Amino acid sequence: MAVALKHVLTDAEFTKLRDDMVKHGIRARGVRDPLVLEAMAAVPRQDFLPQELREFAYDDTPLPIAAGQTISQPYIVAFMIEAALLKGGEQVLEIGTGSGYAAAVLSQIARDVYTVERIGQLAEKAAATLEEYGYSNVHVRHGDGTRGWQAHAPYDAIIVAAGGPAIPESLTAQLKIGGRLVIPVGDGERAQELVRITRVSDTEFRREELADVRFVPLIGDEGWQPDNVRPGPAQRRPMPRREEAPEKAIAQAAEPFGAIDATELSPLLARIGEADLVLIGEATHGTSEFYRMRASITRALIERRGFNFVAIEGDWPDAARIDHYVRHRDAKPSEWTAFARFPTWMWRNHEVRDFVDWLHKLNSARRAENRVAFHGLDLYSMHDSIRFILQYLDEVDPETAAVARERYGCLTPWQKDPASYGHAALTGTFQTCEAQVVAALKDLMAKRNAYADKDGERFLDASQNAQLVVNAERYYRTMYYGSRASWNLRDQHMFDTLKTLLKHHRPGAKGVVWAHNSHVGNAGATEMAGRGEFNIGALCRKQFGRNCYLIGFGTDRGTVAAASDWGGALEIKTVRPSQKQSYERLMHESETPRFMFGLRDRTAPHVRALFRPRLERAIGVIYRPDSELSSHYFEAVLPDQFDEYIWFDETQAVSPLKAHEIEGYPDTYPFGL
Ligand code: SAM
Repeated sequence: MAVALKHVLTDAEFTKLRDDMVKHGIRARGVRDPLVLEAMAAVPRQDFLPQELREFAYDDTPLPIAAGQTISQPYIVAFMIEAALLKGGEQVLEIGTGSGYAAAVLSQIARDVYTVERIGQLAEKAAATLEEYGYSNVHVRHGDGTRGWQAHAPYDAIIVAAGGPAIPESLTAQLKIGGRLVIPVGDGERAQELVRITRVSDTEFRREELADVRFVPLIGDEGWQPDNVRPGPAQRRPMPRREEAPEKAIAQAAEPFGAIDATELSPLLARIGEADLVLIGEATHGTSEFYRMRASITRALIERRGFNFVAIEGDWPDAARIDHYVRHRDAKPSEWTAFARFPTWMWRNHEVRDFVDWLHKLNSARRAENRVAFHGLDLYSMHDSIRFILQYLDEVDPETAAVARERYGCLTPWQKDPASYGHAALTGTFQTCEAQVVAALKDLMAKRNAYADKDGERFLDASQNAQLVVNAERYYRTMYYGSRASWNLRDQHMFDTLKTLLKHHRPGAKGVVWAHNSHVGNAGATEMAGRGEFNIGALCRKQFGRNCYLIGFGTDRGTVAAASDWGGALEIKTVRPSQKQSYERLMHESETPRFMFGLRDRTAPHVRALFRPRLERAIGVIYRPDSELSSHYFEAVLPDQFDEYIWFDETQAVSPLKAHEIEGYPDTYPFGL
């Protein structure tokens, strides 16, 4: 009988695999600190693995070790060590020795590495391995690492390789002044946020959120209790006992409509009732029908329900250009063209322009204080915002302008590419500008009365821009890793702006929000909740309850305006028919081409039928039909997500504005050339 002999990799082959991993799996993904890259290249990961797994040593994945634990993924080991900002020669504490691999990598940079492991069997094995391979500056201890290792404190850096519910105080107490603690935290046992805590003084600590991560739980006195396992949101959802032929229930409840402009909106307005906030979504950023129906509902809310402002998922200074135009403001408009940056089609399109022209006309017949305003909630305009603040201060207070110019100068090198500011600040190669932008906002707010007395609207513009710069500066520092923290920061900013607007416009003001379904639908009813993400819809629900009405849209197929990559050219793409097991497929199977219905009545058959979690599609400014299932579908519970759902079985791409269509308009026209 022939026996197939397994090829055992030679040292040279392992070294080659390791070099490739460092180059392609670590450096190419953004870890650039040479000390970290050299250390990763120096430590043979196979030495820390059970014999049968050694051949996988350089796959970029965690692998099982004994006692149900794992050796961390090489990239995350490198990422965490880089985040600890070591320069060489430090005293470092690691919690969660596991196999001892990360401690061995750390030992290449630090003077001494103290490492604590909760499971005795692992601590013993790791200590033996480290000794066998000569890592003499690593010291292993069996114990509860949430208490640190007081005997060798204070530490220049502490790295925790398991995720806890909160930051253990014993660990922050064992940091030197200037020392860094890198630790995954989060209230899901298996999905956390990697944060860096820097000890600024005896009593002050700075917290930065770096990335979404998934670690085994940190179990101990200041971590999780061993038997504390809670169900995630998906498991807590109510489930109907049996399937109730959902497409039939949908067809029966559907309120069909035809032409958008001729749609009878009274039943919808009755369901909205007295709500002061109506959030209207869109399932894509590039579908004409969604824009037109949203505009039509908004017109009805303004004319029949006295709504006072529209706030969009667009940048404040760009929307301010539109506001200037629609409210016939006297002041000089800002110099730039509204919505001229990627993705231009999102707001610079015929559908939005028709609404803006309508609002301009409607407002011309109203007194200034009754005019309906148009605002932007988003924060991608750091530099236009700075430009606006300086222009404003130059006019009202040149002395403060000079100080602000100096403060904002910190961000000037990153004008063209704020994302690289985020990376430079995070990796410690550049000082952050946080203190300066916060100080500029404080300067402005300190003089709020004097400034606002002159012109309250312009002061709102200036203070909102200054607040935007503060949040954008933080946003760019966290977005580099695509983390949940940056998503939450952005939606929190949008929600806070909305609250400022409710306060700014007279008491009892009513507002309409235009944003993507993913911002408007309650995140708590989608898989976003499991990742710890929230959005405007969730925050509104929490603060305003039934006083805000959330409307979602959906489509089965057609065309959409979208790019293939961030910053890419606009393409008109075909939307694939919806996937099986999605809400969209159910709506399609109801054979009702266009309809809407309310979702608040839990006893209605269609609501009961929709209560089972299903897939839902979201298309943003990017659409990748080839990987649609993984990149555009997520799980949701529709009646928990929205109060109303509007369906268009087939949809067409939005129509972007072309330059020649704007020629000849006055300077105040916001969609300039
Ligand atoms: N750094 C390790 C390596 O390179 O192999 C991997 C660590 S593994 C992802 C996390 C480890 O943390 C597990 O071995 C687990 O037993 C340990 N752990 C969990 N809670 C702990 C605690 N309170 N103190 C010390 N270790 C703990």
